[in-house]
This record gives sequence, structure tokens and C-alpha cells, in this order.
Amino acid sequence: MNFAKSDRLSQLPPYLFVELDRKKAEAISKGVDVIDLGIGDPDLPTPDFVIEKMIESIKNSENHRYPSSMGSKKFRNAAASWCKKRFGLEFDLETQVACLIGSKEGIAHFPIAFLNPGDVVLVPTPGYPVYHIGTLFCNAQTYFLPLLAKNNFLPDLDSIPEDILKKAKILWLNYPNNPTAAIAPDEFYKKAIEFAHKNNIIICHDAAYSEMTYDGYVAKSFFEFDGAMDVGIEFHSHSKTYNMTGWRIGFAVGNNELIAGLKHAKSNVDSGQFNAVQEAGIAAMESDGTFVNEMKAVYTRRRDVFVNSLRDIGLNAPFPKATFYVWCPVPENFTSASFSSFALEKAGIVCTPGNGFGDPGEGYVRFALTVSEARLKEAVERLKKEF
Ligand SMILES: *Cc1c(COP(=O)(O)O)cnc(C)c1O
Repeated sequence: MNFAKSDRLSQLPPYLFVELDRKKAEAISKGVDVIDLGIGDPDLPTPDFVIEKMIESIKNSENHRYPSSMGSKKFRNAAASWCKKRFGLEFDLETQVACLIGSKEGIAHFPIAFLNPGDVVLVPTPGYPVYHIGTLFCNAQTYFLPLLAKNNFLPDLDSIPEDILKKAKILWLNYPNNPTAAIAPDEFYKKAIEFAHKNNIIICHDAAYSEMTYDGYVAKSFFEFDGAMDVGIEFHSHSKTYNMTGWRIGFAVGNNELIAGLKHAKSNVDSGQFNAVQEAGIAAMESDGTFVNEMKAVYTRRRDVFVNSLRDIGLNAPFPKATFYVWCPVPENFTSASFSSFALEKAGIVCTPGNGFGDPGEGYVRFALTVSEARLKEAVERLKKEF
């Protein structure tokens, strides 16, 4: 038998974290006490009030049947209310909101609704891998937009050649940003919206980190800017905000036609998220903000301990205003890959090589602040011994 992989799949690199997991498992099997700052997966548990709601909801047999692919009315209503409370924005629950099986699901499926082979998608790099992968799955072309320190990790929209603009159908944006931890100023959003109008391009804004912000910074929704509703869709996720990565729940809001396209694509490939999980997601969105504030305080302390310690040993680490990542330039004479290998082999620390998120990430590593302050301190102590 010869099971040749499709061309589509053959084009893909192995998913970044599959490779990291393999290296980590190898180190653990050798007896190394690994400190994992690799994948962005919160270490702290889902809040009790969400778990309690899940226990109650799972016992309700009405929840055991097929859910609606776009999400229950209750869920969409709660998502719309959350947007109203958080951003002061109104979304119509019938036409402008869709439930997702985690935002990655929506990000991967959205392009199916709008891309034809040969269309171009503008994808920031380094970036979340799914924007490019979703493009490849549609046999469309990715045009990468480098995120560079000199541009504050914002893409240079003026640099895109005219022939690319003609074929471009979608622009992905993600602020607060993974992996660079950058935030976008209002002027950037305004400029992007103007760009989208002018060139007839859809903007997909990935807002997975909108709630993970520090030092008084409050992230805005894309839809807080004039004209956004004509051009865009925004993806929200419970994963990072409520420590719910394993639950697979999030939602999209935005332009009617874009939401309708997403729902159309989704309804043909999935049957929605388990109603009990949707109800747990509602409980999270209806909570009063205490939990989110507590998490922000935890990450702020971790960030301060970790970045200060890295600076003490001579690394040029910035203090991020958002996300739970530290996007850190590697020390002189290292590459992204050589530093990550060094950190794992000499110090038992897993971090993600920046170029794994795209070539312009070369020269950086990403540390996720997903272990305790004590472990973060220990990580830097171990590195210090090796320098
Ligand atoms: C974690 C993450 C997501 C999504 O997560 P889900 O668990 O699928 O909701 C989306 N975008 C970025 C940039 C992320 O880092």
C-alpha cells in the first residue's frame, strides 16, 4: 500500500509544538527536571464557578443531544453581553455572533468560506501558525508581513506590492500579539481599516489575549474603531482568559456576511460544541472580573520576577504590557535554535525558538510564564550557572 500524503499536507511543517513536546519528553525520559516555558497553556486551574456549572450542566439530559453548530442562543447572547460590558459594543446575536470550538477552530475554518485557490492572504510573521496553515488548506497563497522590533512588531501595510494587494483577500491581525507580546496603538487599527476599505480586504482580528493585559493597559476590540464592521471579524477565546484551554470554547463576532460565511463552513464540518461546555463558557463570561484580575496579578508578578532575573544575567528582556509571553532577544553568539537547545540541554528549560513562528522571529526566543514564580526564578538560576 502507498498512502501518499496530500500535497496540501506535505507542504506543512510539523506543528511547532509537536516537535517541542517530543524534545521535552526525551529530556524527561532522561530524568531531567524540566521547566516548561514552551507552549502558551495556563498552568492554573479553570475557576471553580465554571467547573460547578459544568457539573450541573452535564447532568441535564437536554444537553446531551447535538448542539447547534453556531452555538445556542443563550451562549451567543452571553457573548454579545460580554462584548457590551467589556467594549461597549452591540452585536446582533442572530447575525453577528458565532460560537467556536476554541478560536483555533474558527481561525482554521473561516478561510474555507472566503478563499479560492490563488487568492492571497496577508499573514504576520512571526505569528500564530494557524493563519498560514488555514491558507494552505484552501490552496491559497500566503504573503508574509514581517513583524520587526523597529516597527514595534506592527506589519508595514505600505510595503505590500500592488500585484499582491490585487489578489489579497484576507489580512490577519493579532493584538495583543503572540509571540511578540506587542500591543497595537489606535492609529494602527485606524490605518488597517482604511487599508481594508481601500483594497477590499477582510480583516480577521485574533483577540485571544484581549484580557491578559498589565500595568493599567486595556486592549480594545477591533470594532471600537469606525468602519471596522464593514470589513472585519474578531475571534475571541476563553482559553487564556479563564484557564480553559482544554475545554475548547470561544466565539467570533463581526460583519454579518463574514459571520454567515463562517457559520456556513462550520455547519458542514462540525456539529458545534457540547452544550454543557457552552453553559460553562457562559458562566465564565458572566463572572464579575474578579478571577481575571487575580490572574492578571499572578502574571504581573511572574513577569516582574522573570524579566528582572533575566536582566540580572545580562539578557535584554522587555517587560510585556500584555499576553503571558516574554519575547526575548537571544544573547550574542546564539541563534534562536541554538539558545533553545542550550536552555533545554544545559538547564532543563523548554522555550520556543522564535524562528519557529516564522523567519523574522530569528534572534528571539519566547518564554511562556506558565510556571510559578519560584520555578521562574529557578529557571534563571540554572541559566546563570551555564553562562
Ligand atoms: C492560544 C491562541 C489562540 C487560541 O486558542 P483556542 O484555545 O483555540 O481558543 C488563538 N490565537 C492565538 C494567537 C493564541 O495564542
